[in-house]
This record gives sequence, structure tokens and C-alpha cells, in this order.
Amino acid sequence: MRLSRYFLPILREVPKEAEIISHRLMLRTGMIRQESAGIYAWLPLGKRVLDKICNIIREEQNRAGAVEILMPTIQSADLWRESGRYDDYGKEMLRIKDRHERDMLFGPTNEEMLTEIVRAYVKSYKDLPLNLYHIQWKFRDEVRPRFGVMRSREFLMKDAYSIDLDFESAVTAYNRMFVAYLRTFARLGLKAIPMVADTGPIGGNHSHEFIILASTGESQVFCHADYLAMDTPAAGVNFDDAEELQSIVNRWTSLYAATEEKHDEAAFGVIPEGERLSARGIEVGHIFYFGTKYSAPMGAKVTGPDGVDSPVHMGSYGIGPSRLVAAIIEASHDENGIIWPEAIAPFSVGLLNLKAGDAATDAACDSIYATLTAKGVDVLYDDTDERPGSKFATADLIGLPWQIIVGPKGLAAGTVELKRRADGARETLSLESALARIV
Ligand code: ATP
Ligand code: MG
Ligand code: MG
Ligand code: MG
Repeated sequence: MRLSRYFLPILREVPKEAEIISHRLMLRTGMIRQESAGIYAWLPLGKRVLDKICNIIREEQNRAGAVEILMPTIQSADLWRESGRYDDYGKEMLRIKDRHERDMLFGPTNEEMLTEIVRAYVKSYKDLPLNLYHIQWKFRDEVRPRFGVMRSREFLMKDAYSIDLDFESAVTAYNRMFVAYLRTFARLGLKAIPMVADTGPIGGNHSHEFIILASTGESQVFCHADYLAMDTPAAGVNFDDAEELQSIVNRWTSLYAATEEKHDEAAFGVIPEGERLSARGIEVGHIFYFGTKYSAPMGAKVTGPDGVDSPVHMGSYGIGPSRLVAAIIEASHDENGIIWPEAIAPFSVGLLNLKAGDAATDAACDSIYATLTAKGVDVLYDDTDERPGSKFATADLIGLPWQIIVGPKGLAAGTVELKRRADGARETLSLESALARIV
């Protein structure tokens, strides 16, 4: 992409309304624009990152055997009356009336709708296990939308729903998502810790929030420091092997980790002083087994091998891709701007032409741009006539992993400069060696 033809509305001023660094940087780099309180438009740079995050989530959901669908954003209130949640949900739900005075709502989550789909089609234990997910916009009328897309009213969620015959197979379904989440967050360059979370009236041990430690996090969390060094399950995990899944989950739940609601000071106190982490955290994912909470009142039943009908056991599994964009920036930035992890960078390379209009410099840049693009590398080519200082600042601010800096002086000596954003390391190299580093 040539910057001269792109839409990258960089703000030179730090917007006053933004309290935390990720919100400031997302506004400064023109990733998002607030349209109403807690409601954002995604501009090109932000959209690219959001899409990359969704693709990693999708790959790991598919690997774990979940199947993608797409449910609507607008739901009928009647569905929620069946589960009994229409009145309970309170003011976070945006309620709408259509022209026929029917009660509709903008979905804050999809348990009811998914249960309705299952009820319509899934009739036998032979159709199970099943896990259906979608990536769709949700609306929750948060009392205090803040921190940009970290806590917005309209936000993107990946929500998966598992459907099983009984508790035992539902636990395996839960474990599949647990392992998929560990892999997803690791691929996003994050250390997310699964923490015991509240299960409400259902009880049991099957609710975990995946938390990233960050000083700007809204929850207080407590865990063993060894979580930060634990290995992530490999891509070759067999998601059909219940024992293998259970052993990974056992390892990842063997140490203390709890959110404030489930915190047990006595159990935490047993951990040696230096290994205790009491910190602020950001909830980026949440998995939950809820049994027959919706299937029983809504009549989603299957016939078992014994010929008896019983309500299916279900769980739901959420990740917030839009919140993740902000959380990743909280975890990865410096005083000059964002530092994108390779896997989700909007472009892998920034190509900086220091003397646009100079025939030799333009020719060299055009050729680098063509070579990298042909190899499938995403390049943002700064071909504008801005001053070099401003190009350097923009490149650092938007945080692409690599910068190739091309100017007439270097070219005369047969070299370009290669800068790695993460540590600022700069090298003067022949063009061939610079390209070899990247592809
Ligand atoms: P929170 O405790 O932050 O309000 P939640 O527990 O209400 O979140 P869940 O219902 O568990 O959220 O939804 C699943 C995921 O959706 C969360 O883990 C989070 O990543 C994301 N999410 C929830 N609310 C928001 C929001 N207002 N803005 C952005 N992402 C959100
Ligand atoms: Mg909430
Ligand atoms: Mg929560
Ligand atoms: Mg939650």
C-alpha cells in the first residue's frame, strides 16, 4: 500500500479525552474514531489489526473442531423471555421496538439464539459433540464506557457454544476451548493466565477468565508467578484425545490463579512471598460451563443411546477481539508509539523513501516494494513528500515490525538501512541482505 493513496489520519496532538496509553495511541494513529459514547468506527489501520486478530482466533477455533456460523445482531425479545433473561438482564441490554411494536434487542450475547438453533436441528446423541461459534458485534449499554475499545458499548466478540450429551463430554468440550485459548493468546504475543472465575448459581470448577496482567486493568487478580513462564500447548495437540486435553488443563490449573470474586487469601498465602503476584488484569476471554441452564427451559433435547430424551449440556466461550487490540497495545508500546507483534501487525514492513521525487531513490523504492509485495509481504510504502524526521516519527508511532529506510546517500554506497521497531536496532546493509532478513 502506498501511503499517498492510503487513509491514515495521524493526529499530532494527544487527544485529551483518552486516559490510557492504548486509547491515546489508537486515536493518534488513526485506527479508530469515536462516533458516539462507546461506539467506534474502525479506520483502515485499525481494521487490518482487528481482522488479523480475528483470523488467528478463527484458525484456533477451527483447529479445536469448532464450526463457524454467523448469527444476527438483532434478536427477538421472545427468545429471551423463554430463558427468563429478558427481565433479568437489566439496563445493559439495548431494547428496540420494530414498526409493528414487536420487542427486539441488540444482542449482548447469543446463548438463547444458539439454543434455539440447536433445538431446531439437533435431535440425537449421534449429532454430538458440536461446537458452533461466530464473530459478531455485540451491544451492551455499559454504565461507564471508557478506555476506547477496551470497554466500549458496541464491541466485537467471538462467542462459541458447545453442545454435549452429558457432563463428562461437556468437560472435554470445555477443555478443548481452554487449550484453544492458550494457543490463541500465545499466538497474539500475549501471556494470558486462566483464572478461576465465578460460576454463579451453577457452581463447579468450570469457569475461567483469561487475564492479561496490566496496570490499567479493571480487575484485581491473584496468581502464582510461574504462570508467566509456562509453555503453550503445541499446534499438534490432539483435540479428540480427552486425556491429553485434561492433562494440559490440569497443568494450567495446578497453580493458584483467581479473580477477586474467587480469591482465597489463605490459599494464596501458601505461595512463597516472592512468587505471589497480586496485580491488575484485563479480561480478554471467558469460558463457562452452564449445563442445562438454557436447554432445559427452552427444550433443547436429544435422544440418548438408551432412547431417553434429555436436555443438552452446554458451555459458552467468549473472546473480545476489539478489546484485544487495545490490550495488545497496553502490553507492547514505548514512548515513541506502538510495537506490533509480527503476527498481527497491520503491515510487516514500512518502506521509507527519504527523498521522494529523486529518480534513483524512487526507482529503488519501487523495486523493493514490488519485490516484497510479490512475495506476499504487507508493505506500507511511505512515498509522500514529508520530511525524513516526520516519516521516522510516523513509522515508529504506527509500530510496524520493520522499517526499510532508503535515501540517496545510502544508495550511492549501495546500501539501505533496516530498523527493527521492537528494539530500535539499525543496520546498514546491501539491499539484498535487507530483503533476505525480512522474507
Ligand atoms: P467485563 O467483566 O469486562 O465487563 P464480561 O465478563 O461482562 O466483561 P463476557 O460476558 O465474559 O464479558 O464476554 C466475553 C468477552 O467479551 C470478555 O472476556 C471481553 O473480552 C469481551 N467484552 C465484554 N464486554 C466488553 C466491552 N464492553 N468492550 C469490549 N469487550 C468486551
Ligand atoms: Mg461486563
Ligand atoms: Mg467479567
Ligand atoms: Mg466475563
